[in-house]
Amino acid sequence: MDRSDLVKESFVKKEVPAWTPTGKTSDYFGELVFDRKKMCKYLDAVSLHALLDCIEGGKPLDRETADGVARGMKEWAIEHGVTHVTHWFQPLTDGTAEKHDSLIDYDGKGGVIETFDGKMLAQQEPDASSFPSGGIRATFEARGYTAWDPTSPVFILDDTLCIPTVFISYTGEALDYKTPLKKALKAVSDAAVPICRYFDPDVKKVYSYLGWEQEYFLVDEGLYAARPDLMITGRTLFGHNSSKNQQLDDHYFAAIPPRVAAFMRDLEFAGHRLGIPIKTRHNEVAPNQFELAPIYGETNLSNDQNQLVMNLMNRIARKHGFVVLLHEKPFDGVNGSGKHNNWSLGTDKGTQLLAPGKDAKGNLQFVTFFVNVLAAVQKHNALLKATIASATNAHRLGANEAPPAIVSAFLGRTMTQVLRKLLEVPSDTPIEIAGKKGKSVGLVEIPEIFVDNTDRNRTSPFAFTGNRFEFRAVGSCANCAGAMTTLNAAVAEQLISFKDAVEAELAKGKETNVAIMDALKPIIKSVIDVVCFDGNGYTEAWKKEAVRRGLDIETNVPKMFCEFTKPASVEMFTKTGVYTEKELLARNEVKWETYVKKVQIESRVMVRMAINHIIPAATAYKAALLKELSLAKEIYGNLDTCTTELRILDIINKRVEEVGTKALAMKEARKAANAIEDEYERALAYHEIAESLYDLRKPIDKLEEVVDNKLWPLPKYRELLFIS
Ligand code: ADP
Ligand code: MG
Repeated sequence: MDRSDLVKESFVKKEVPAWTPTGKTSDYFGELVFDRKKMCKYLDAVSLHALLDCIEGGKPLDRETADGVARGMKEWAIEHGVTHVTHWFQPLTDGTAEKHDSLIDYDGKGGVIETFDGKMLAQQEPDASSFPSGGIRATFEARGYTAWDPTSPVFILDDTLCIPTVFISYTGEALDYKTPLKKALKAVSDAAVPICRYFDPDVKKVYSYLGWEQEYFLVDEGLYAARPDLMITGRTLFGHNSSKNQQLDDHYFAAIPPRVAAFMRDLEFAGHRLGIPIKTRHNEVAPNQFELAPIYGETNLSNDQNQLVMNLMNRIARKHGFVVLLHEKPFDGVNGSGKHNNWSLGTDKGTQLLAPGKDAKGNLQFVTFFVNVLAAVQKHNALLKATIASATNAHRLGANEAPPAIVSAFLGRTMTQVLRKLLEVPSDTPIEIAGKKGKSVGLVEIPEIFVDNTDRNRTSPFAFTGNRFEFRAVGSCANCAGAMTTLNAAVAEQLISFKDAVEAELAKGKETNVAIMDALKPIIKSVIDVVCFDGNGYTEAWKKEAVRRGLDIETNVPKMFCEFTKPASVEMFTKTGVYTEKELLARNEVKWETYVKKVQIESRVMVRMAINHIIPAATAYKAALLKELSLAKEIYGNLDTCTTELRILDIINKRVEEVGTKALAMKEARKAANAIEDEYERALAYHEIAESLYDLRKPIDKLEEVVDNKLWPLPKYRELLFIS
């Protein structure tokens, strides 16, 4: 089938079956999750209470309880047709890992029975040698183990009971995303509780909340399959711009195309049955780009749900003849995809710590947390950027679309004014809700509803949006845990040192509110001068200004990873108990290795496609033109009527030559890079190769512009982006 047939076929698939109602969402929400309701129904009283102690109080789960819990789970699972079980974990790769075991065992009477006990629930030993470990586990010591994370409920996917687990080496190092995230969540709670107690002595726990917004592209599966670059690297390595892209702003929030809507409904239905509170769906800025967002939840669970959603998207898209692209930059020239991480803190008593309070006390608590978050982001701005850096996100980073490669914070007019005012007034000035005391000069006021709540600065990587911060730099295919671990840990570190500062002020005999404000003032001064920036993050002027302020402007991804092992980061991570230095070193090895492999794969695919797809198409057209020219010469005796053909031939000759030489050079560059022993140095060499991919792309896109449309073998941007 040639390209035009393929295009026609994928266009016709637009016909979608009529929608059939699923009934009320609340009737099936969470039906495939072993949640509290099922625990109460399927567990005996002793197991239930022990499990709740474990979930809420962090008590370890003993074998007997695990057996009791497993018994109840097995009964529930079998009622749902489950035949298999797996530990479901998040190694340092893209996506999750699972190894299914059937529930059968010999019954001793010549048959089999279903078994599932506490041991199978609590721990498994997958052969871990083939997961990235950065040398923590030499291959002869292939044993790592997975252990149940009872704070994330067990769920059913098709015939399989999935048990969310951490993944750890036998020597205790984390080999996954979940383990450090859980440690960071504990650290931020431990550090925040004493601060909360200045305001409410009964606070026992502080939760970190995450609301992710998942952006993605959909492309027709037939067209996708005809693009080896998309299939293998997740993005198009070449493709000339479509004449119409996103310049008319007609895709954002536009009517959802029927086939896409059918996909979204299926996805939401599956997600809701799995207890994922999917809330929002809409068209995004770029053609064929969409977004899905749930109601925010506790960070660990919300992150698991994001991992699960990405998995569901892949499966369900295929049922609708689509492939979902989670890559940050599948298409050049249109927006890429991110995953805004909306993040906040709240107490076990329901107080939102990053939202204005009900009174002056509540407001002081809000400002306290607000300012300390800014301080943490300021101190670790380079590290936070490193948490979102990857070979794939690099194409968004600093490339004139969110996010700029400088981590600053956007506060909005209101909060900037509040902070400035606080520096001017005496430390015992109450922070009022605007309007409560009438308008008066001298008061520090916060409006009850933020006027500029929607005063969104789309260029800021870390923006305050009224009751939370939005970390916008996270990549669409990333595991949010990478960024969330560091953010929560950095805030924990900051709160620990803030507590010391407050205690020092209290020791001078000050009232609590005055002591807190006196401890806050130098921090406010510093964050206003350094990390807070409400201007346009894309300008050259901001880059210069950021350097002056001491913010990091590095754009080289392998270099960014070095931030993880700098003394300030090691101190922060070890103090909060999130990573040991050994883990940080090992993880950087993994990061560099992954970076190298991803660029290596892209470069290979690109060179092979240049040789196997592009040059043959260009030379076939060249041969046709030459034939025409020789005919013209024969008939007219000259080429006077062929100036256009001659010009095109000229372009083809030049560009083909360029493609050939650059492809060869790239191969040589790879050879040289592969010979480098040191992981970091090799990654630096591959960074150069990543940059040169753009160089090889240019002549190819120029060829696409002139070569006969019928001869061009690869689906074009105008087809990939506009057929849905
Ligand atoms: P927008 O695109 O306008 O930023 P969306 O509605 O797409 O907003 O997504 C906002 C996300 O932020 C949702 O997941 C929402 O549940 C989440 N969110 C709202 N309040 C909080 C909060 N206090 N903490 C964390 N996430 C929050
Ligand atoms: Mg948002």
